This record gives sequence, C-alpha cells and structure tokens, in this order.
Amino acid sequence: MIIGILHEPSFESRVSLLATEAASLIKNGIAVWVEKDAGLKAFCLDEDYTQAGATVKSRNEILDGADILLGIHYSEIPLSLRNKLLVGVYQPMYNHELVEDWAQRENTVFSLDMLPRTTRAQSMDVLSSQSNIAGYKAALLAAGTYSRYFPMMMTAAGSVPPAKVLILGAGVAGLQAVATSRRLGAVVEVFDTRAAAKEEVLSLGAKFVEVEGAADDAKAGGYAVDQTADFQQKQKQKIADSIKKADVVITTAQVFGKKAPVLVTQEMIATMRAGSVIIDLAAATGGNTGLTRDRQTVVWNNVTIIGDSNLAASMPSDASKAYGRNLLSFLKMLVNKDGQLEIDLSDDILKNACITHNGEIISPIIKTRIHGNAAQLHSQQS
Ligand code: NAD
Repeated sequence: MIIGILHEPSFESRVSLLATEAASLIKNGIAVWVEKDAGLKAFCLDEDYTQAGATVKSRNEILDGADILLGIHYSEIPLSLRNKLLVGVYQPMYNHELVEDWAQRENTVFSLDMLPRTTRAQSMDVLSSQSNIAGYKAALLAAGTYSRYFPMMMTAAGSVPPAKVLILGAGVAGLQAVATSRRLGAVVEVFDTRAAAKEEVLSLGAKFVEVEGAADDAKAGGYAVDQTADFQQKQKQKIADSIKKADVVITTAQVFGKKAPVLVTQEMIATMRAGSVIIDLAAATGGNTGLTRDRQTVVWNNVTIIGDSNLAASMPSDASKAYGRNLLSFLKMLVNKDGQLEIDLSDDILKNACITHNGEIISPIIKTRIHGNAAQLHSQQS
C-alpha cells in the first residue's frame, strides 16, 4: 500500500500530512510518497519526510503510482485521473459537475466535509479542527486590525473601556472566537439560531441574545436550518440594535449546503463607528454581510470588512497537524491491519463521506442533491 501526499495549490499553506503523522503510517508498514516541497509552507521540509521514512517523488509519479492520494483542495488535481482513490475536502455540495465527472472516471473519492457530525466521527472531523483554528485566528485578526484596545485599560493616561465584540453563529469557529475574545478582555454578545448554543455561549462568559421563534433543528444532525421570514425580520432588528454598540463583529453563520444567510446589511454597517472591524468566516458561501468578498479586505465608511474562508491556513503548522491526525483516524477505517484497502460502505461514516465509488455516487445527500436537481430540471422542461 502506497499513500501519496500531494502539494496543495499556491493559495494554500497547509499540507495534508506532516512528517510526524507520515511516520505513524510508515511504522505500520505503509509506504508514504510525498510531492517535493509539499510541506514547505507548513515548515515541514523534504528532509523531515525522508527522515520519517517517506520518499520524495514528482507529482506525476505520485498521481500514477500511489494507491491513496491525500490532499486538501481539489482545484489542481487533473480531471483526467482515472480509477484513483482520493481523500480531501472537496465541497461536493457545491461542485456537482466534478462529482459526476469523478463517477464517470471511476474514481473513489472521499470528501471529509461530508462526514457525519457524530461522536464516533469526531476524531476525523476536519471541519471542527480547522474551524477551531479559524475562530481563534478571527479574534486575533480582529484585535490586530481594530484601532483600539480589546481589554479594559486603567493607565496614568486615563482609562479605556473594553472592546465590544458581537459574534454571529456559535458553532465550532464562533465558540472559539468567543473564548479567544474573552481571553483578550473583550465584552462579548452572541447570536445563534440553535437552542443548544445558548448554554455553551453562557459557559464562556458571553451574553446570548435570544430571538424567539427559531425553526426546529432537532433533525438536522447538529446543523442550523433555514429560518422563516418572520424570524429573519425579528433577528435582523435585534442584530441592528447590537451592531450599533459593537466595535468588532465576527460572523460565522452557515447553513449546511446552502448560501450563508446575510445577517448584516449595509445600513447596519453604516451605524458602526469609524475604526470598527468585521471578520467574515462565512465568505466562501457568499458571506454574512452584503459587502464581504472572500479573501479580500474591503474598507467601507471607515469600517474594515475582512472576508476569509481559509483562515486556518494562516496557522499552517498546527492546522496541518490537526488535519493529518484527522486523516490518520479516517484512514484506519479504509486500510485494514494487514495494510490492505477495505471499503465497507455499510458503515455510516464511510457511506456519508464517500462521494463516488465504482462509477456511482454513494453519499445519500449528494445523490439526492444531484439526482433531485436533475429530476426537477426535467419536470420543468417537460
Ligand atoms: P456551521 O459552520 O455549519 O455554522 C456555524 C454556526 O452558525 C452554527 O452554530 C449555526 O447554528 C449558526 N447559524 C446558522 N444560521 C444562523 C443564523 N441565521 N443566525 C445565527 N446563527 C446562525 O456550524 P459548525 O461549526 O459546523 O457546527 C454545527 C453544529 O455541529 C454544532 O452544534 C456543533 O456542536 C456540532 N458538531 C458536532 C460534532 C460531533 O458531534 N462530532 C462535531 C462538530 C460540530
């Protein structure tokens, strides 16, 4: 069994597996091939990989010869690839054409953003490990960009009140942004639509702003669901009241597989004082503000709006370490004790994360999405 580690596209600084994690595969009799300089931006050199027992190879050698290809993004993986097994975070919910192409070319593709959010899958949950880093870095980025102090300061030159931070969405990233902002001394207010979020927010010493009438999310596997127009209106009013007082806004609100809800309007931003900062982590799916541009900084009305859907990459060493540990845990489900590939699609973890196998779409959610859309299109045309 040969596992290949691919070099990520130029915008990425993480690598899917560091040398320390590669070493644990090698110890179990698995050969690891790594593309030249794949770990460089995460400060893991080719020598580190060779010392761990891996072999440095060219991209083509790895694409041709490895049994399992490990990566993060799909963007530079050749579409001509056939009969290969790939593991990464490929966002199949938003890339239907790519999914159909993989099926046609009989590639077996596992996308870790489709893992179920269950206790058993927790150790492989790349969304959580990377969101945790993104939330932490969002608070640091906000503090570094904000033109005033985060903590309360009592100095001989006078006293300064603490910064007021508003956080929209208290999932993994949002909760880490709450905890980090609190550690930096800010006063924090939080909105979320999931009832379960309230207790977690309070336990971190922040205020939870309740909006009545949120849709029931009990059957959404831990994710948020779409809200009614009435709820959205009530929530917008409350966010508008909070934003006027906020110095920093960190937005993380997402609804699985959909466009991010726009929670902050231009009119709301117009009420923020000069020098305020917004960090939008939902930028990949459109953003939570009308002014967000992914991987760009926009300054409007003296408010800085930073959209960044890949903030975990700004901490490449620990982000790669966590990602690699998630991968090791996932690989244990694919490779048996004798080092042979064994794909048991009756297991709910593999079934959900497997996008295509043997020329078919496997993930039930992706199958419904793609075939559902095709059926809808057909009925509209006929
Ligand atoms: P996410 O990135 O999908 O969304 C971020 C947050 O935005 C969520 O808390 C969501 O409720 C909130 N949100 C969505 N629409 C909103 C709106 N209109 N207004 C305000 N907030 C809004 O979430 P996530 O970080 O992936 O976590 C989602 C859930 O999954 C959490 O309950 C988390 O605890 C759970 N989870 C479970 C496991 C596990 O058991 N293995 C692992 C990770 C996460």
